[in-house]
Amino acid sequence: MKITRKTFDEVMVPCYVPQDMVLERGKGVYLYDTSGREYLDLTAGIAVNCLGHNHAGVVKTIKKQASRFLHVSNIFVNDKTLTLAKKLTHLTGYTKVFFVNSGAEANEAALKLARRVAYDNVGEEKCEIISFDHSFHGRTLFSVSVGGQAKYSTGFGPIPSGITHLPYNDIEALKKTISDKTCAVMMEVIQGEGGIIPADPEFIKEVRALCDQHQALLIFDEVQTGVGRTGSFYAYEWAGVRPDILTTAKGLAAGVPIGAILTTDEIAAHFKPGTHGSTFGGSPLACAVGSYVVDKVSKPKFLAKVQQNGDYLKEQILKLNETYHVFSEVRGKGLLLGCVLAPEYAGKSGVIQKLCAKHQLLVLVAGGDVVRLTPALIITPKQIRDAVKLMGRALKDFVKAEQEAKDKEAKTEEAKTEVEAKAEAKAEAKAE
Ligand SMILES: *Cc1c(COP(=O)(O)O)cnc(C)c1O
Repeated sequence: MKITRKTFDEVMVPCYVPQDMVLERGKGVYLYDTSGREYLDLTAGIAVNCLGHNHAGVVKTIKKQASRFLHVSNIFVNDKTLTLAKKLTHLTGYTKVFFVNSGAEANEAALKLARRVAYDNVGEEKCEIISFDHSFHGRTLFSVSVGGQAKYSTGFGPIPSGITHLPYNDIEALKKTISDKTCAVMMEVIQGEGGIIPADPEFIKEVRALCDQHQALLIFDEVQTGVGRTGSFYAYEWAGVRPDILTTAKGLAAGVPIGAILTTDEIAAHFKPGTHGSTFGGSPLACAVGSYVVDKVSKPKFLAKVQQNGDYLKEQILKLNETYHVFSEVRGKGLLLGCVLAPEYAGKSGVIQKLCAKHQLLVLVAGGDVVRLTPALIITPKQIRDAVKLMGRALKDFVKAEQEAKDKEAKTEEAKTEVEAKAEAKAEAKAE
């Protein structure tokens, strides 16, 4: 069967506008399309393939588990699921885990759990959920409604009620809004899809204090910031604030779908048999790979390298930017970085993304104003230098095209004024 990019438009629900090439295989931080063209991949499947493509240990783990069983469901226990749960609790100090298959499902579970805790402890009236503008929490109706980007939730109403969105990093707004009716505050420590926007350290601490004051649960959505992405296994570690419920997904099984919530015994006790569930959640396949990932990524040496290489990538882009002045700032932490476009280039992240792909470099965007980089955590300094070289070619093309467009505009403007001046002179001559 002949498959091309056009096939997508024929048979796929048009929720995406994928790039032109058809990908075939990967190795480490490289991807190859069906024509054999190589791309340096700084997307890692949107912060998912933390160990790169075709990682020998991951492949071996998958093969081994596939030869035992892939799935048995939660009416049985198996060693792989419980081993990963043990590892995650041991690593974080949380005592209970609930497994799902994606970030949205993890947030869905966290929000439902928070509602149930409030319902059991206080009553139906303590149901309000507070989250922040520009946040992203997934695409189920509940998680997308809690997310702070109206463009994702409009047109799907009626949406769940009892949700309030506040400006991020604005503690006064939260002080005014939070009350004893608030059951949970959900936030990202660094907003990912929203533009790689870090929470102020002081803000995070005050959110925690306000939640305590009103017996509201604090939920950190670490779907993107988790599993080593920001240089510690979870971002709450450097944020210095421990949430009541933490959600994790993306990188946790290096590309095999998985998600989880971590919480305490006390909170977990409000989910009783039958109150929540998942057919696939915690599959032995995903959990076997998850255990492999946790063993690798949680090593202090590995995490130190993520931090170091993240700093290096940031530094190299800033150096490149001294030539092209395309970005006003590079923000983020570890290997979760956002290159913010200078005001004159606002809205053009997609153009840069395309130019990068043309030069065999794959990057993400986070809205129109931010080029987002989430490479595999195993990227090396040499590969970082190569990536920045390719980005340099893309930025050179970008700046050139922008300049040409500007010149062209100036010329038409000039021509216009010339025509106008001539017409004016003609009119004047006639009048005389
Ligand atoms: C990606 C993401 C999600 C959604 O995860 P899915 O696996 O796509 O459902 C939720 N929250 C954050 C912060 C994310 O980055």
